[in-house]
Amino acid sequence: MPADTTTSRAAAPKYIFVVGGVMSGIGKGVATSAIGRILQSKGFVTTAIKIDPYINVDAGTMNPTEHGEVFVLEDGYETDQDMGNYERFLNVTLPSTNYMTTGRVYQEVIRRERNLEYKGKNVQVVPDVPLEVIRRIEEAQKQAGADVTLIEVGGTIGEYENILFLEAARMFKQKIPGDVAIVMLSYVPIPNNIGEMKTKPTQHASRELNSVGLQADVILARAVTPLDAKRKEKIALFCNISSERVISAPDVQSIYDVPSNYEKDGLGDILCEVLGLAKRKTDLSDWESFVAKTKNATQELNIAVVGKYFMSGEYVLSDVYISVIESIKHAAAHNDVKVKLAYLDSEEYEKDPTKLEELKAYDGVMVPGGFGSRGVEGILLAIKYVRENNVPYFGLCYGMQLMVVEYARNKAGLEGAITAEINKEAIHPVIDIMPDQKEKMTKQDYGGTMRLGTYPCNLKEGSVARAAYGKADISERHRHRYEVNPEYIKQVTDAGLVFSGTSPDGRLMEIAELPASEHPFFLGVQFHPEFLSRPLDPHPLFMAFIAAASAYTAAKK
Ligand code: GLN
Repeated sequence: MPADTTTSRAAAPKYIFVVGGVMSGIGKGVATSAIGRILQSKGFVTTAIKIDPYINVDAGTMNPTEHGEVFVLEDGYETDQDMGNYERFLNVTLPSTNYMTTGRVYQEVIRRERNLEYKGKNVQVVPDVPLEVIRRIEEAQKQAGADVTLIEVGGTIGEYENILFLEAARMFKQKIPGDVAIVMLSYVPIPNNIGEMKTKPTQHASRELNSVGLQADVILARAVTPLDAKRKEKIALFCNISSERVISAPDVQSIYDVPSNYEKDGLGDILCEVLGLAKRKTDLSDWESFVAKTKNATQELNIAVVGKYFMSGEYVLSDVYISVIESIKHAAAHNDVKVKLAYLDSEEYEKDPTKLEELKAYDGVMVPGGFGSRGVEGILLAIKYVRENNVPYFGLCYGMQLMVVEYARNKAGLEGAITAEINKEAIHPVIDIMPDQKEKMTKQDYGGTMRLGTYPCNLKEGSVARAAYGKADISERHRHRYEVNPEYIKQVTDAGLVFSGTSPDGRLMEIAELPASEHPFFLGVQFHPEFLSRPLDPHPLFMAFIAAASAYTAAKK
């Protein structure tokens, strides 16, 4: 980590807006994160903000199959998956100030208008909405004490949706011209039938950006291959910048390659130059040694992720589980293994239980978080199978709740046990809403019924969880409505399941496991550990799961 206390602080805070040209999905979130990592490695205190142009006030109400994972911040705010990229690349904990949507911005403007805070003047879309955006950006900078604040503007240049955010960038740059940089991430296609890299779409995106009063200082040119000098010159000429400021951003093997790749074209120093910052050395050595580990491992583990939500037409929706996938990558690298993930649809097991046999071929099985009833009976069959056949199992949130349901049904003799989420009239609702939450549910105050954000948890001496964390007290992020029903704790524990993590008052069951003497690894958590894993600081439970999967495979051979 750069020691920001030992380096001299930049005079005035600097801001970098990252905007996208040509099309969506070219990796603005990773680009923003990678720029942050480079500047941080130079010793600048860096923070990152995501602007999502949706009307939704937060990401909690967005369907993950449409929007990707809902990333929960420490303070419980439900945000976009890019916030997870920032936290992972920068190894920071971001507050809700660093995420805004159109809905959130308008909500605040309207609240202030109702509160007479505009003192009777006409409140206008421009400048009042962009001014609120700028106020939030400055607030986030202050909270982080950041030398450099990155602002990723969601959507693509030329869209109607993000126009007020681009206007905010323009107004901000007009106010403090030397302290604001604009980085445009663009796409440079190589059409198959032409076989040549075409810069025209980028030229159009640049003009479109000019039309809202902005000029890119740096262009990151995403393409399948690196840009040659000729293409760089062409983009430079038509987009009004010097060719050194056109940065090659070719496809790379892993998102973690991106910072070093940008540095090949000297991006960090260029940004310092644009912002008038004294140049400092970039030091990505710790980062690069992690990246090397992700590539050099020779042992490969096969891990199955069992659940629903995997397919959208012909495509696997891995974005829904991005933090889980990244956490596995981190733990794999630090365990010197590679992991191949397979997504298995649990509904298949409901149709044909003999298919469960396929689970035997895996070195570990995971059930990630989820909602609703689809595929749940199949998941329960899979959990029973891995429990009885000693396949390492790791359940996250719903994956822990269903682990308790399975155990209640098949080991504690509670036939018909289920979560109240699926059946409110169940005879044995072993997973249920806590009484205080029930009241809110009847008032349809759903927002208030989720347990969101960080909560403390105490670990039981001698447990698998305690050994993994190496300490007794932890805190983890949550996002769920249901809990283990206190009325069934005794019956389930008498049957052998151990609740090795609980809330400090002992009311809420946070971790369930089987003792190490009984199973290679059978553990589920009510929280979402995937939100805390970092490339250079992998999560202890993912580490333990991957280690168990690796040992299990070694023993099989
Ligand atoms: N559906 C479950 C609940 O609301 C689990 C949620 C999750 O897995 N994030 O409690």
